[in-house]
Amino acid sequence: MFMGTHNPNLKLISDSGQRLDNRAFDQLRNIRIDVGVLESAVGSAYVEWGDNKVIAGVYGPREVYPKFLAKADRALVRTIYSMSTFASLEEHGRAGPNRRSNEISMVLGEAFENVVMIEKFPAKMIDMHITVLQAAAGTRIAAFLAGIAALIDGGFPMSDIAAGVSVGKADGHLVVDLNKEEDNFGQADLPIVYSSSDDILLLQMDGKMTREEVKAALEMADTKSKVVMDMIRKAVGAKYEGAISNRLKL
Ligand code: ADP
Repeated sequence: MFMGTHNPNLKLISDSGQRLDNRAFDQLRNIRIDVGVLESAVGSAYVEWGDNKVIAGVYGPREVYPKFLAKADRALVRTIYSMSTFASLEEHGRAGPNRRSNEISMVLGEAFENVVMIEKFPAKMIDMHITVLQAAAGTRIAAFLAGIAALIDGGFPMSDIAAGVSVGKADGHLVVDLNKEEDNFGQADLPIVYSSSDDILLLQMDGKMTREEVKAALEMADTKSKVVMDMIRKAVGAKYEGAISNRLKL
């Protein structure tokens, strides 16, 4: 959650139960996924998720540098998430890696390592680069989507498909896929990534919800992440079978 200037007068949900962008509480923003968008990458994807615009390129498997990071029995999915200097209208300081982007890089990298068959590439590195061109809440989830689509596009063998969504609470209502205002001024934000075999690969939360609300929010997220997984399947077409049946097409 980006802590913007608190605005206690901003109504996130109208008296008639409308969100600021007119979505239903359980409605996703529009999502578009294009794969194979970068010539130099082994796999790539461009994702628009609401007003988020994210591009991912994946390279390798290649030698690990620096060498001491290498894992003898598996590959490392080195993930670099970064936000472009023009990603948002707000002033967010200097360009380049910062604490926030390092944290997101780490959690995304761990999630990718749980679906890519890293044991097939001992001591190698798969390089994942994700850039947020335009940011509008939920960038880590949109970044994960771009990354997964890029991996499948590149023919990397996967044990599973995965996708996520953020859920949270705004003006006392549980909502799916928080928009910028809900993210900034809402009561809770819980990004989550599920695998298609129902494992949870990423789970973070800030703000405040009751246990019952968290349970309900996780259910909403589960349903919606499956919708996003279907979008991935459609976007990657025949490459889906290739990646999931563990055939390496590099
Ligand atoms: P997420 O993007 O996954 O929701 P955060 O909760 O850290 O992650 O950020 C919420 C939102 O705040 C972002 O989606 C983006 O719209 C905005 N934001 C945060 N940090 C930056 C930044 N450095 N540059 C531009 N926008 C930012």
